[in-house]
Amino acid sequence: MYKNSWIISRKNMAKNKGSKHHRIPTDLIAPCGMNCRLCYAFEREKNPCPGCRGDDSLKMKSCLTCNIKNCELIAGGTLKICHGCEFLPCTRLKNLDKRYRSKYGMSMLENLKTIEAEGISSFIRKEIEKWSCPECGELLCVHKPACEECGYKWNQAAT
Ligand code: SF4
Ligand code: SF4
Ligand SMILES: [Zn+2]
Repeated sequence: MYKNSWIISRKNMAKNKGSKHHRIPTDLIAPCGMNCRLCYAFEREKNPCPGCRGDDSLKMKSCLTCNIKNCELIAGGTLKICHGCEFLPCTRLKNLDKRYRSKYGMSMLENLKTIEAEGISSFIRKEIEKWSCPECGELLCVHKPACEECGYKWNQAAT
């Protein structure tokens, strides 16, 4: 459902410039702290991924076999998100965090810390501020070094 509302919001982007018009449903924040709204797979037109908490039948194999999604504490329903876990940061999260920090300038562990300290709503507000393109206001994709809408190069290290 929310996917459609995003498509509409993208169409209206020209008149709705600016971060205050963006919305990121809490369901798009994955257990590991990833903001699936910023993922290339969520953004793509063909076979978009519904996000980690979405319908498994629509996801890529790599997401279905993710060792965090399949952690027994998450998959078994004990925890909805890793920040309450006594094993945090476990090796799986440390590895993912390291990869994302070096490749995309984003930290799952920092995300989880913010969620723990300030709550999910505050985290989402900060995400919208942080990831809105300073040139056109559209949300950036963490996996792409430039804004898809206006070409602004936000990740100079990757260009
Ligand atoms: S591919 Fe993985 S990170 Fe990307 S939206 Fe889907 S579940 Fe989230
Ligand atoms: S932090 Fe805890 S809940 Fe999250 S993947 Fe590691 S062991 Fe599982
Ligand atoms: Zn832009």
